[in-house]
Amino acid sequence: MIEPILVARGLSLAYGGTPVVAELDLDVAEGESVALLGPSGSGKTTILSAVAGFIDPMAGELRLRGALVADASRSVPPERRRVGMVFQHYALWPHMTAVETVAYPMLRGGIDRGRARADAAALLERLGLAGLADRRPSELSGGEQQRVGLARAIARDPDLFLFDEPTAHLDTPLRAALQQELVTRRAATGTAALTATHDVAEALAVADRVGLLREGRLVQVGTPAEVYERPVDLWAARLTGPASVIDVMVEDPGDVGRPASVRIGHAVLAIPGIATAPGPRRLLLRPDWVTLGGELPGVVREAWYRGPHTDYRIETPAGSIDVREAGAQRLAVGTAVGWGVRRAWPLVDTER
Ligand code: ADP
Ligand code: MG
Repeated sequence: MIEPILVARGLSLAYGGTPVVAELDLDVAEGESVALLGPSGSGKTTILSAVAGFIDPMAGELRLRGALVADASRSVPPERRRVGMVFQHYALWPHMTAVETVAYPMLRGGIDRGRARADAAALLERLGLAGLADRRPSELSGGEQQRVGLARAIARDPDLFLFDEPTAHLDTPLRAALQQELVTRRAATGTAALTATHDVAEALAVADRVGLLREGRLVQVGTPAEVYERPVDLWAARLTGPASVIDVMVEDPGDVGRPASVRIGHAVLAIPGIATAPGPRRLLLRPDWVTLGGELPGVVREAWYRGPHTDYRIETPAGSIDVREAGAQRLAVGTAVGWGVRRAWPLVDTER
């Protein structure tokens, strides 16, 4: 069996006796990208800091490539862990230019000066920083500093990248470019990554698996499709995307290859993939799971034209729902509209 790059078992972390992360179990496999998705304050940076070696566990253990690096009594210092961390708040050396900063880990790794500089310059160019190679941090914008920090982490050639909100400071086109760079780089080098983010789009875009972190506890770990399509509860549903909830009656739960019969108001709809016992239920609807034009009654309450698509809020007897449709706005606020359900997911909890 191939040893995972990172294993956390029963990991508990605290600041001065105040617990922040409780009994965390998490693996990152060779070449795998895992995202920790959680709201601000849920413990993402704390977990990354523990993996990097800046915080020692109160309980549990951390292993890198099978070797114990930290538990309640021992801790390997950060410089002896093969991890490359890119911090939420860039931590660049003020006296070094961008190219020197990126070349530095290569020089320490024994690469000769000329080659280190050439490789560093090439890396900066790929990150869109070619013209800024000779600038110091004070001469770079926040987003540029973040990318220099990323280039430095890449240059360390680590076993594991730790990215803390790696694109939070960047403008939208650059974010997409950098996310793509992260994905491509990792694919090329096979380097595993653990990314902390509060941005669901980033988590779904960069990760093979996503862990949902709520107040220091992992409530669900799954592929991007699993956490989006089958969230464990309403909290997880809201964290992973726009979530509407409607009250329905499941009359027949259906089966493999046979859709469920679900009564919504006066209509009975056939909906695939419900798999829950008959009875009153709350169903999660994502905006892309609802179609406009259908037998269920509703009224357009709000509409937002977003360019490639339009988002509508529809008032219905079963509850208020958000619907996304490709193209320009075609329904005015106040219009009566029919709607239908392509897909839905039963929520287990009753909280609203
Ligand atoms: P996230 O990165 O998910 O926003 P953090 O890991 O930074 O969350 O913080 C988790 C919790 O730990 C928060 O309640 C935060 O206030 C607290 N915390 C973070 N850093 C420290 C610190 N250095 N000392 C005390 N408490 C801290
Ligand atoms: Mg943080």
